[in-house]
Amino acid sequence: MSPPRGKISVVVPVYNEEANIPELVPRLFTVLDALDRPVEVICVDDGSRDRSLDILRGLVDRYPDRLRVVELSRNFGQHPAILAGFAIATGDVIVTIDADLQNPPEEIPKLIALSDQGFDVVGGVREVRRDSLFRRVASRLVNRVTTAITGIRMTDYGCMLRAYSREVIDLINRCEESSTFIPALAQTFSRRPAEVAVRHAERRAGESKYSLYRLFRLNFDLMTGFSVVPLQIFTLFGFLTASGGLVLGIYLLIRRFVLLRASEADGVFTLFALAFVVMGVLMAGLGIVGEYVGRIYQEVRGRPRYLVRRVYGGTGALIRLEDGGVEGSVPRP
Ligand code: UDP
Ligand code: MG
Repeated sequence: MSPPRGKISVVVPVYNEEANIPELVPRLFTVLDALDRPVEVICVDDGSRDRSLDILRGLVDRYPDRLRVVELSRNFGQHPAILAGFAIATGDVIVTIDADLQNPPEEIPKLIALSDQGFDVVGGVREVRRDSLFRRVASRLVNRVTTAITGIRMTDYGCMLRAYSREVIDLINRCEESSTFIPALAQTFSRRPAEVAVRHAERRAGESKYSLYRLFRLNFDLMTGFSVVPLQIFTLFGFLTASGGLVLGIYLLIRRFVLLRASEADGVFTLFALAFVVMGVLMAGLGIVGEYVGRIYQEVRGRPRYLVRRVYGGTGALIRLEDGGVEGSVPRP
């Protein structure tokens, strides 16, 4: 029996990666061409301020029918950029990979092999992470919390070297939420997920686009985007605190009026402690509620997740979109 010969799309989000692209793209094609089946690479320029877009356009001339470049109108973030790529990907298997060469393109065939066996989401798991200790510890913590809260089981949420089946991508394309975390979203649509160990290299050039703040935002997306457990935990906590306060109040009343003991003035500090606990809980709770309300606001506002300015390559011709681009999608060639 001959192996499946479906088309492979590779989607690469690119943000200020001028130093990595000239190496990445040829390496990708070397790997993909060896697979001997239809392939396309879609690079999504996420509003880079360096020469990334120029370099990509130059590469379109070199690989005119296999490389497509999507130019977004500004920086929207890694996940919206990948979604823009998904919208025009035509492959039967769609692979995502980072542009910084931290995921070696040479690992792609491993994912494809599993995908051919019928696994609809194949997640890469970084064998030895080449990131700073801080990043590794933060990631481990996030992985734990996320698994507990969302109930989505995944060994390595942060690894973007992943392969998705056409069915899963079609479902993702139908989602309209404005802030999302693609690996988790895909996992919720997957019927047969698989994981495979992949190598991980140090960032070749340029610097990580994720500051502590952006990482924090991303994790809030992941947590609130996929569960309301934080809200529930908070409510529960609020109930417990309130019950505790009630019990304490009843005890104090009994002590004062049934046991007829004098009230203790030293209790003032206990009261302070209690007040701080309650205030803390309230503030944290407001913050969490605020997160959800903010998200509702974002969804209701219905802003496009990304705006495509132009698409280069694919058909060989330049596809010029209306001024301001097409909201959330671009036409297929
Ligand atoms: N990226 C992007 N838009 C952004 C931030 C990042 O398209 O706003 C791309 C970036 O070019 C890279 C990938 O997303 O291809 C991962 O980014 P990075 O390597 O900075 O993240 P890290 O590896 O530090 O998690
Ligand atoms: Mg990286």
